[in-house]
Amino acid sequence: MQVPVDDYLAEVLAACRQDAGELNSSIPELARADPDQLAVAVCVGGGRVYAAGDAGARFSIQSLSKPFVYALALRDHGVGFVESKVDVEPSGDPFNEISVEEESGRPRNPMINIGALTVHALVGEERLDAAQRFERVRAGLSAFAGRRLEVDEAVFTSELDHAHRNLALAHLVRSREIFTLDPHEVVEGYSRQCSLVVDTRDLAVMGMTLASAGRNPLTGEQVVSEQICRQVLSVMTTCGMYNAAGDWMTDVGIPAKSGVSGGVLGALPGQAGIGAFSPRLDAHGNSTRAVAVCERLSADLGLHLMSPP
Ligand code: GLN
Repeated sequence: MQVPVDDYLAEVLAACRQDAGELNSSIPELARADPDQLAVAVCVGGGRVYAAGDAGARFSIQSLSKPFVYALALRDHGVGFVESKVDVEPSGDPFNEISVEEESGRPRNPMINIGALTVHALVGEERLDAAQRFERVRAGLSAFAGRRLEVDEAVFTSELDHAHRNLALAHLVRSREIFTLDPHEVVEGYSRQCSLVVDTRDLAVMGMTLASAGRNPLTGEQVVSEQICRQVLSVMTTCGMYNAAGDWMTDVGIPAKSGVSGGVLGALPGQAGIGAFSPRLDAHGNSTRAVAVCERLSADLGLHLMSPP
């Protein structure tokens, strides 16, 4: 018997309503989130979006911005140049660690903070000021989402007030001259980037844009090239879930990225974009319920990339 998709997604959510995990505490404003929120959205070909739960709930994008800003830097400078600044190897360390290649000082990958700060600094031409660079990032992320994204100023201020560790990471990269911008400006721009507001549907559309070789399924805009999507999805596969990337890939098998506000975004090439959201996090900083939702979808629908079709 066929169950309507929305009903099926509601069943998945009901099965994943456990209470494990804690709200993020590194950015005080995020601790004000309603811990019971839970949502899922799936975007398929033609831009059709199926959703269930609190799919209209809004939250700051946080680290879910990283693959998209990486894509923008690749679009501006090409794969070779960006790889000369930020490597593509999994770090195996938590997301805010000092994970660099010893000899060159290159951050290990763009999905952890030290790499993402560097990638933010690479967007656009070097002569851009911080505001212009941020507007380029905002425009790019908005093109992935198919609507203009706005900053949550309270989250931004909260993040910037507690950005000591990101400042240290940015200074470290600057000391090796991997970028030459002022580290304070880089951290400010990166914090604004992390404070852009999305909902779970946006995540599904952004994921589907990556899964559709760079073409936004809602607007039809070719945001980045197919080659860039391949690069971004590959790095998401190996590094997107931080030091839980191996567990994630074996269990779920979908290129994905998580963020400390509780979002998880998946992109299944040629098939679907997936968004899941719930604010309680596990020890790696991944949403406990959003991970469970993705595990369930992957098992039920046979989405694991390594399973035969
Ligand atoms: N803005 C957060 C930070 O820089 C993002 C971290 C995350 O989502 N994992 O720490």
